[in-house]
Amino acid sequence: MSARVLVVDDILPNVKLLEAKLTQEYYEVVTALNGPEALIKIEASPPDIVLLDVMMPGMDGFEVCRRIKTNPLTAHIPVVMVTALTDPTDRVRGLEVGADDFLSKPINDTALMSRVRSLVRYKMTVDEWRARENTASSLGMVEKAANAMQEPAEQARILVVEDQYFDSEKFIDALKVDNDVVIVVETGAQAMTKILQVDFDLMAISLNLTNEDGLRLCSHLRSSERTRSIPILMIATEDDMPRVVHGLEIGAHDYIMRPVDRNELLARVRTQVRRKRFQERLRSTYEVSLSLALIDSLTGLYNRRYLEAHLQKLLVKNEENKRSLGVLVMDIDHFKKINDTYGHGVGDEILKIFAERLKRNIRGIDMVARLGGEEFVVLLPDIPVERAYIVAERLRRSIAEETFPCSAPEGAISVTTSIGGAMINSQPHGVQEVIDRADKQLYIAKEHGRNVCVFEDKGALNPAEIQIEDRRTI
Ligand code: GH3
Ligand code: MG
Ligand code: MG
Repeated sequence: MSARVLVVDDILPNVKLLEAKLTQEYYEVVTALNGPEALIKIEASPPDIVLLDVMMPGMDGFEVCRRIKTNPLTAHIPVVMVTALTDPTDRVRGLEVGADDFLSKPINDTALMSRVRSLVRYKMTVDEWRARENTASSLGMVEKAANAMQEPAEQARILVVEDQYFDSEKFIDALKVDNDVVIVVETGAQAMTKILQVDFDLMAISLNLTNEDGLRLCSHLRSSERTRSIPILMIATEDDMPRVVHGLEIGAHDYIMRPVDRNELLARVRTQVRRKRFQERLRSTYEVSLSLALIDSLTGLYNRRYLEAHLQKLLVKNEENKRSLGVLVMDIDHFKKINDTYGHGVGDEILKIFAERLKRNIRGIDMVARLGGEEFVVLLPDIPVERAYIVAERLRRSIAEETFPCSAPEGAISVTTSIGGAMINSQPHGVQEVIDRADKQLYIAKEHGRNVCVFEDKGALNPAEIQIEDRRTI
């Protein structure tokens, strides 16, 4: 994974040393010798990560970080403060201005690389969601989420896996100010049970559990679908550093060293909770915009755009599996008359009920979409021809045999539909060709007098010949 790293330090040998180490790992390195120069370079060409010295004459690292994190154009870039200071209050100050992490001088190479790698990974994920969100917001579909710093950090649900009473008490105590819900367990097994009951915002895991390896638990949590996106904060001692590095490599997000400092703990937890909430928000905005683009808002069915993409995939699969695919095109009979007689509003009500009935009468693997107006398509993958007849006939009857309750003066009106069907074999076929074939049969059905199913190579189905089975079985 290549990325561009900006190294900011007022002492040239420090810059050169970091540059050499990072270049060796194939990172692209840009350098700056003071705060203002760094800010100019960041705006001109944003890096993927900033390694920022704290003690610099003029503008110090805290101020540079604050400016990066309050500028909407640069706030998403991870910042690691590089410091000779070991005083936790300085770390807290850094985290409060938005720093993503700290490295202390002299820099431990493995810690440096794993930190850079994990933050670059985080940024890549966020960049991906940001790009999708940008598309959506440029279409005017969603409001843009600003950045992680603006997410609330309070009332988080936190799981602490720690059997040292002294430290678990510190968690409970320190996180009180944020009204977090802190649940403490002492073993991995208890953690697994809790995880099934509660959706956590963060899991803090001790690497010094008496009877088990906390890293194993971290690895397990990373590989499980349910817990993969929950941040992990490791609790470790100074001599655990190689295991901490391993933990970061397998996907833990952060660590805190014993003795645990309350303020640092609070700041680290807040950062992780904010990031998680930010990622969740990006994902859900994306899902909303996706559904707006692919779902028909009146009926809640897939729209034509989705249908075409889906049908394309089904045709490929149909070819590979040597199966046959049923395609039905349906059109409501004399729908214009319904609109003309009762108004467009009633027409819309009918379309909704129509869509509902189609959905109720197909199998889970079948798919129904609104092609436009009062035309619908049903795709029946992996179906023999006789069964396709049954489904088509069942759909026709589900419309014709029961009136549609609506706000027309009569309270309910009769609706019928015509259906054209085509069976698609495992030869190569195009999307438009397939829809056209079924559509041609639909035209014949209309000619034939409507309220009928017509199949290619079969003609109009005779309802008397078709036995409808329980829909759950086919
Ligand atoms: P046929 O039996 O031949 O299909 O006759 P028809 O009247 O159903 O066919 P036609 O295509 O002439 O009319 C379709 C009508 O559907 C015309 C159009 O105004 C109406 N329509 C299309 N989309 C909507 C919609 O979203 N809501 C409502 N209420 N009407 C719609
Ligand atoms: Mg019609
Ligand atoms: Mg029509």
